[in-house]
Amino acid sequence: MISFGPIPSRRLGKSLGINNISSQKVCTYSCIYCQVGITNKYSADRTSFFEPSVIYDEVKKHLQKLDAIDMPDYLTFVSNGEPTLDINLGKSIEILKTFNIPIAVITNGSMLNDSLVREELSHADWVSVKIDTADKETWKTLNRPLAKLDFDHYKNGLLKFSQEFKGKLVSETMLVKGVNDSPEILHQTAELVLSINSSTAYLSIPTRPPAIATVTAPGESEINAAYQIYTEMGLNTELMLGFEGTNTGFTGNAIDDIINICTVHPIREDTMQELLRKDNADPMILKSLIHGKHIQQVKYGSNTFYIRKFHS
Ligand code: SF4
Repeated sequence: MISFGPIPSRRLGKSLGINNISSQKVCTYSCIYCQVGITNKYSADRTSFFEPSVIYDEVKKHLQKLDAIDMPDYLTFVSNGEPTLDINLGKSIEILKTFNIPIAVITNGSMLNDSLVREELSHADWVSVKIDTADKETWKTLNRPLAKLDFDHYKNGLLKFSQEFKGKLVSETMLVKGVNDSPEILHQTAELVLSINSSTAYLSIPTRPPAIATVTAPGESEINAAYQIYTEMGLNTELMLGFEGTNTGFTGNAIDDIINICTVHPIREDTMQELLRKDNADPMILKSLIHGKHIQQVKYGSNTFYIRKFHS
C-alpha cells in the first residue's frame, strides 16, 4: 500500500501517509529503537521504487474515497525506511503538489549532503529531520548507520539544507535511556539542533516495540531535564510522548488542560498554580492526577515541574 490514513498527527493535523519505498524496509540506518524492526536492506544508493505517476494515481484514488471532513492537512512521506533513497522523490513531490495539499517529508537527514536530495526536498512545505545526537560514537550506537556514511557529512548536509530550505524545518530527537539522555550529550545535541534553526525541536521516546528489545525510554526526570536543556538553549521545544493531546489552551476543564499541556510541555509549579486558578479548579485535582499516575512531579534545578507520566 502506497498511501494510508489519514492518521491524526499532533504536528501535522490530519496526515495522509505515503510510503514511497518498497514493502521491504530500505534505510541508511538501523536505529536501535526503530519500530519497523532491524534493517535488512541497508543502502545509501538512490533507486527507483515507484513511478511518480503510480504514487499520484494511488493518492488520487485514496483522496476520492474520503469524505470532505477527512481531507488531509498534509500529504506526508513517512516511508518504510528513508524516503530520500527514492530517486523519484522530487518528481513525486512536484506531481502531488497539484492536489493543493501541503507536502511533508520525515527524513533521517543522512542523505542531505547530496545537493540533488536537498533540491528535491526544497519543494516540500514541511520537513522533519532526525537529530538524535551530535556525538559521532553515540550516532553509531543509536542510529547504526551504513558503514560508508560519514558523520561530518551528515552534519554538513543538515546545515546546508537548513540554509537553503524555505519551508518549515523541524527536528526530532528520540531519547533512549542510557544512550543519548545524559546532560552532556543533550547539550551537544541541542547545539546542533540550534545550528539548523529548527522551528520546533521535538523530543520523543520509544513508545512502540523497538528493533532491539533492551531499548527503553528515559524516566520522566530525564525527559524533563532534556526539555529544560533544550529550552534553556533557546529552542522552541515540544514533547512527543506518544499521546496525541492537541488542546493546549485554557478550556475551563482543569483536568483536560493539565493532561493536554503536560503531554507537550512540562508545567512548572508556579504555572500550574496559575492554571488551576484560571480554571477555578480544586487544588486536590493535582493530587488525584498524580495518584492516578496520569502525571508525575519531577525536580529540575530549584524548580518543580509536572510531566505526563508514561511508564505504568
Ligand atoms: S531512520 Fe527511521 S526507518 Fe530508518 S532505521 Fe531509523 S527509525 Fe527506522
